[in-house]
Formats: sequence, structure tokens, C-alpha cells
Amino acid sequence: MAVACKTVRQRLEHRPGISDWFADTQALFNQVARFYFQVIQAHPEILALSNQAALSALEKLTHRTKTNPNPPFLLEQVAANIPACFRRAAINAALGAARSFHANLERWRRRKEKAAARGKQFRERPPVPPRVWARSVTFYAGMWKEWQPGRIVLKLWDGRTWRWVRFRISGRELPEGWQAKSPQVVRRGRRWWLHVPVEKHFPQPARLEEQVQSNPDLRLCAVDLNTNDVLAACVILKADGTAVASRFVRGGRKLHGRRKRLLGMVARNRSRTGIIAEGEQDNAALWRKIRALDENEAHRVSRRIVEFALAQGARVIVFEHLGAFRPAKGRYSRRANERRSYWLRGRIVRYTRYKAREEGLLVSRVNPADTSRLCARCGEELSRYSAGQEPGVYCPGAPLVRCPSCGMKGNAERNAAINIGNKLLARYEVAKPATGTSGCDSPKGEGVLISQEAAGHGDQDGHGTARGIPRFLRSQRSGGYAASTPGCAHAGVPEEAALL
Ligand SMILES: [Zn+2]
Repeated sequence: MAVACKTVRQRLEHRPGISDWFADTQALFNQVARFYFQVIQAHPEILALSNQAALSALEKLTHRTKTNPNPPFLLEQVAANIPACFRRAAINAALGAARSFHANLERWRRRKEKAAARGKQFRERPPVPPRVWARSVTFYAGMWKEWQPGRIVLKLWDGRTWRWVRFRISGRELPEGWQAKSPQVVRRGRRWWLHVPVEKHFPQPARLEEQVQSNPDLRLCAVDLNTNDVLAACVILKADGTAVASRFVRGGRKLHGRRKRLLGMVARNRSRTGIIAEGEQDNAALWRKIRALDENEAHRVSRRIVEFALAQGARVIVFEHLGAFRPAKGRYSRRANERRSYWLRGRIVRYTRYKAREEGLLVSRVNPADTSRLCARCGEELSRYSAGQEPGVYCPGAPLVRCPSCGMKGNAERNAAINIGNKLLARYEVAKPATGTSGCDSPKGEGVLISQEAAGHGDQDGHGTARGIPRFLRSQRSGGYAASTPGCAHAGVPEEAALL
């Protein structure tokens, strides 16, 4: 079984005075966690144990019972009257911090030895244990009760004693079919929120290689991400490379316009102020807006991609690896805008990955070389042009493509998406008889006729309806470029990684 996890954030409705109790509970939690961190520092051998065994070992070292009357360290001396569930949550927080600290330290030592072995100077400072403890409190079962949709009762420390306090919860409800784990209470500004990790178990999808090689009904959703108006062009391909549906997720132009305006305001403010205080965020409100804009867009686009893949019965989503960012020249707002558009693509891939995982879909990536330069039908070099222009030379970024060799005409993003999908199929293709060679023989005239129609409409609609796809757009995996560039076949992430 595979597991998907995410966190649902809900608002705790509380009167202002309760804020202090939350803060007191958190301070106590961190006091206890820090104490246990020090105990672990004194007994580092504990880190070799499993979490469960380490927990018992630490309790034995610190907690007085009838059978354990004289432990070497006493939690009571640091904080009395700690409920067992609270103590265990703090121990686990301390264990997590200690494990991460020691792993960092170990890596630092290895780097130092390596430098010494090479006779190089090593100036890097060693990692330090956490100086400030400001972790959010995890409420294990026993620290909460009567947890239902819309309400919860939490056990809080008011500075003198423990109290049960009833809260109303507002905001998103927990998704159905997911299992809730121990919630955390997290401060955001002046309010306190309940963060609930939720988990879903589902059957592990078959490995990508298996699916491609043994499932003749496999459908995959190939996605070309862009920084122009079409943020994502999605095409559904069958296992034989036939494109059966496409959908364009637009909105890039609007996003760029809004973001450029905000970045322009940042630049203007900066030029007025002159000096920016070091280490201080300038124009905080504007940056917050810009971040929210990108975040929102990444969620919207990734959600559309996954929805489209599901609606079309695709089991695999494939992207291309994103190339290095090459900043354009121009004003600050233009350069910064382009950079953020570039980042956005990475974020769309990340979000699609986790959204797809929840649905049991696989996500993979392929080598981006030539996906937009070559014809998806015959593998020859394309000419790119804009509507109303004569197709001739290659005009980078133009929306339409034409193949001088086979006469294919169509939308550039769609062509690139098909190429991306075909690269994935080519990667796992075992020596199969060539499929769809008939596409090559189709008379040129016919191809051009249909293609003009497709080019015209593809630009406007392309909203996910499965239209009849002209033959010329069907892939020629046997011919041209997929077969002639075996290097691509092995590029990309291993699928084990894609499963994560
Ligand atoms: Zn062609």
C-alpha cells in the first residue's frame, strides 16, 4: 500500500484571553523538549534506537516510577505535573531535532575529513544545536477529546494548572476517506490554528515501466508548461502514441500583467526610498500579494491538469525537465516577472505531483531536448510562425508550427506536449513492430487541409473535448526522432523517484 499525506489547516475560534494559554502551553512544551534534547546529547547512543525504543529509554532516564525510583535525570525538576501524552509528544519533538542535528553534524565531519584528505582549507562552521525552541505543540490523543466536525476540546496549560477548553473550528473540513493524525496548534499572527495531518492509504500503482509495456489501454497525459498565455498544454496519448484529447490551461497573460504591475510598484517604491534597511523585507504587503498570486496560480493549474488526466482516464502524467533559467534583459519588473514565471513552472510540477499521488497517478519527466523544435509526426525541424504570417523561418515563441517535410500544421504547445508523451513511450518501448506507419503515407494535401482547421480551432478551444484528431498529428514513434535519438530514452528521473 502507498500512503498520501497532507495537512488541513483549520481556524480555532477563541476569545483573545485564551491566546496566553496557548502561548503558555507552547512554552512549556518547548521547555520539556529542550530538556530531552539535552538528555539525548548526554546519551547520544539513544539515537541508534528506533523511535519507540528511544522513547522508552528516555522515559526510563527521566521519569520516576515505583520500579524506577532513581532516574539519573528528573523531568520533575524542570517541570512538574506533565501529562504522559504531553511528555511523549515533547520527547518525539526532541528526538526529531536531535536526529536532524546529528545527521547535519555527521555530514559536516565528512566534508571536513574530505577537505583534510585533499589538503584543502576548511572554513565551514559546524552546525549548532537549536538555540531557540519555538516548536508548535502536537496534541496526542489524551490531550484532546470530543473531536468532531466543527469542534474540539483541548487540554491547555494556563501557567498554573491544566484545563480542558472547548473550541469551535472553522475553515476547511477534513476530507472524506482520509484518516486524521495528531493535530498541532500553530500560531499565525495573533490567532491560533489547528493543523491536522491527514493520511490516505491506497493500492500502490504498478511501476511506470510495467504500465507502459503491458497495458495496451494505457492513457497518459503529456503536459507542456509555458511562460506565455497557455500555462499548460495537456494532451492525452494512447499507448500507441495517438493523441485523443487536449486541453489548454490559460491565464498566463493575465497573471503576467498583474504580477508585472506589482513588481513595478516594488521597483518604484525602492527607487523613492533609496536605501533599504539590511535584512528587512521591504514592501512586505506587495510581496505577499505577489507570492499569493503565484501560489494560487500553481494550485489552479496543477488542479486542472490532474482533473483533466482523471476525466480522460489517464494513469500517468508526464512533464519535461525544466531547463536552466536564462534571464532576459530589460527593466527590473520584466526580469523579475520572467524569473517568477519560470519558478512557477517548477511549482506546478511539484503540486501536480502530490495531487496526482492522492489519486494514484504516476508522474514522470523526460528530457526536454527538441520537444518544441521538431515535428511530432515525422521528427523533422519545424518552422514556427504567428497567425497571419507566412510560415517560413523559425520564429521562437510563435504560437503555430508547420512541418516543411510532412506538411503538418498545428499549435506549437500541442506539438510539444505530444513530443513529451512520445519520449516517455519511447523510453520503455521494447522492440515492437512499428505502429501507425500509415500516417506517413497520408497524402500531403489532406494533412494540410485538416491541419489548418486544427490550427485555427486548437488555438481557441482545446478545452478538453475529445475531438477527432487528424491523422497527421498521430505520432510516428517508429520513424524519425524518437528512434534516432536513443539518448533521450534513458534521460529523466528514475521512476522510483517519480513515485515519491
Ligand atoms: Zn512533419
